[in-house]
This record gives sequence, C-alpha cells and structure tokens, in this order.
Amino acid sequence: MKRALFISDHGDPLSPLGGRQSGGQNVYVRELGRALGRLGWQVDVVTHHADPQTPACEKKDSLRVFRFSRGGPAFVAKEEMPVLLPHLFHHVLALAGRYDYKVIHTHYWMSGWLGLYLSNRLGLPLVHTSHSLGVVKERAGTPVNRERLEAERLILSFADGIVTTTEQEAGIVGSLVPGDQSGSRVEVIPAGVDAGLFNPRARESRRPPFLLFVGRPEKNKGLDVLLRAWRRLAERPELYVVGQHRRRPEPGLVCTGPLEHRDLARLYKTAAVTVVPSFYESFGLVAAEAMSCGCPVIASDVGGLGEIVVHGQTGLTFPPGDHGRLRESLVRVLSDPPLAARLGTTAAQRAARRFNWDNIGRQTAALYERLIRSPGLYRQRGGSFDAGNCSGL
Ligand code: UDP
Repeated sequence: MKRALFISDHGDPLSPLGGRQSGGQNVYVRELGRALGRLGWQVDVVTHHADPQTPACEKKDSLRVFRFSRGGPAFVAKEEMPVLLPHLFHHVLALAGRYDYKVIHTHYWMSGWLGLYLSNRLGLPLVHTSHSLGVVKERAGTPVNRERLEAERLILSFADGIVTTTEQEAGIVGSLVPGDQSGSRVEVIPAGVDAGLFNPRARESRRPPFLLFVGRPEKNKGLDVLLRAWRRLAERPELYVVGQHRRRPEPGLVCTGPLEHRDLARLYKTAAVTVVPSFYESFGLVAAEAMSCGCPVIASDVGGLGEIVVHGQTGLTFPPGDHGRLRESLVRVLSDPPLAARLGTTAAQRAARRFNWDNIGRQTAALYERLIRSPGLYRQRGGSFDAGNCSGL
C-alpha cells in the first residue's frame, strides 16, 4: 500500500463544517483523501486538535487523522498557530519514523512552510495546495502579515509540485515566482463535489421561492453585501443563511446555523438562487455544490468564482461588493423562471463534467507517481530548498 502524508494545520477533515475555521479546506482534504483511498492509497492527515470531544487519532475509511496539540486540545485561531509549528514538526517526524510515506502533501501556508523542512529532512517529494494566497487576500483588503507572504513565496519556489484549483490561481503563482519555471511544477486540478449528494435529481424550486447563502462567519464572505441587496428588493423572498452566523432577527431572514452536507443538498435543490457574494474566494465550493444540484448561482466575479460560474450560462456574476448589481441580478433571475431553469440545467451539466472527485483523485495520484519516480525533477535544476533562504523570516 502506498502512503501519503497530508499536513493540514487547521483543516481537520472530520470536523463539523460551517464554523469560523472549518470550510472548504476541510472538505477538500477529506474528499481528496477518500478519492485517493479508492485508488489504493493510505492517506494520513496531521492536523491541530481543536475539539476536545474528538480523539487524538481517528480512522474513517482510508483516512487516518492524527491530531496534535500543545497542552491539550482547544480551538486556536489560525493567526495564532505559527507558535505551534515546532510541536507539529515533532509530531510529523514521529509519524514518519513509523510509516513509510512516499509523498507529503501540504495544505495552507503554515503546513507548506513546515513541509519544506520535512521534505528536505525525510527526502520525500513535496506537493502543496495553498487554499488561499496571502497576496490575493491582501489585494481583497484583508491585512496579511509579512511572514506569511514570505513563506508562501518560498513554498511556491521550492515545492516539487503545486496544485492550484483554478487557472487564475496558477497565473498568480507564476507571477509570484518570477524567472522561475514554476509552470512545469504547477498542475491545475479543480476541487470537486460529492455527486452522490450534490446532483440535480429531484430538484424542485420551492414556492414561494427562497434565496440561499452558505459560508463561514467571515467578513470576506460578503453576507453584508447580500443583506443590503436583499433588503432593497420590492418583493423579498425568504433568505436562508447557513453557517455559524449570529444576526439580529428580522422578518424573512432564516439563520439555520451550521448544516451537514446531507441537509445542505436539500436546500440547494429547493432554493431559487444560491448567492456567493465573497470578496475573496480561491475556489468556491459552495458555488460548485449549488451548481451540481441544478441551482442557479449569483456570485461575485472574484478569484475562482469567475471560473466556476460562467456569466449568463450557469449563473450571473457581479463586481465584488456591488450590492446594486447584485440586487438587479436577483430581480432578473427571480422574475424570469425560464432563465432560472436554463441557468440551473447548464450549471448541473458543467459541474458534473468538472467537479468529479474520482477524476481529481486520479490526476493527483498521477502527480504523486511522477514525483516519486523522479524525486529530483525540480531539485536537479538547482532549486533545492535551503533553510538559509529563510533568513528573512
Ligand atoms: N459548509 C457546510 N455547512 C455549513 C457551512 C459550510 O457543510 O454550515 C461547507 C460548504 O458546503 C462547503 C464548505 O463548507 O463545502 C465551504 O467551502 P468554500 O470553498 O465555499 O469556502 P471556504 O470555507 O473554503 O472559504
């Protein structure tokens, strides 16, 4: 059996979703691990032990989760996590002494940063998926510390393989490592959706219609933009807000709290429109899930969303933050049922073609195999990571 070691500092693949720090990365790590498992890989995930109700080690199908902590399990905001990296380092080294890993796949910049040292120490190829990029977050108005920006530049310069989920992100990676042949190390492999749950079967838009928002309670998700647009609709449909949001009660606003994928699928299948008004989104799983269920999506034209949602074909896009344009788009879709049906049908067809975890697992496994066969691919070109390069950190 081939073993892959995933490091996902704050994205526990088995934790409930919809909280401040549990969203797309958790789903991606879980579903990619399961897809690789179906191809005969054993995937071990090392992650922070945030929930005292969970055990330090847990196995689910082909996925084994090893949770580390300093001084016992407790939630730690990702901004506070860098001080935990030495503990994580030792935890991973102990595991690597026990199991014969063939490849390290890191998720998010802190994991990748550690991955550079680990791949050097263990002589294993390093694959990295960013999930979000500091430079892009900064451009979207979120303050980002210098250490993160510098660490990301190093990771993207020295990882053996870089998986980006969109072409747009691949372009950004290329621009971050100028003069470097990052192109040959970057592989664009989208994220996927669980087609057993998220599919257009039995889709039926509920009457009267309702709008759907799904996301972590983070300003970047743009819920305020949606609320402004929604409040100005002459005929206000109900608005369902899914995730750990605390909002003052108001007529028509339904805050469900966090929901499991099984329950979410029912909402996507009955919502008139799913709105994704983010200021930042590296991929945008919510849009992909809604599309898979045949639900029209109105999304801000930002990051991966611009690639997932094709304006006028699978949904509508609007400039991030522009609540006026969002309101117009809502009116357009709500007042034109044939348009809504057409968008939903095309969305489901496009999603089924693109967001398939089995294909994604196969592409990722092929990348691993290639790097295992020629581990020096990048390093032979003189790109070997040297801790001395970190003097700026
Ligand atoms: N999600 C969920 N329940 C919730 C809120 C969110 O299952 O209450 C899931 C959602 O279905 C999606 C993920 O969390 O699979 C969010 O991923 P996305 O890429 O949209 O955003 P991110 O969290 O990566 O910023």
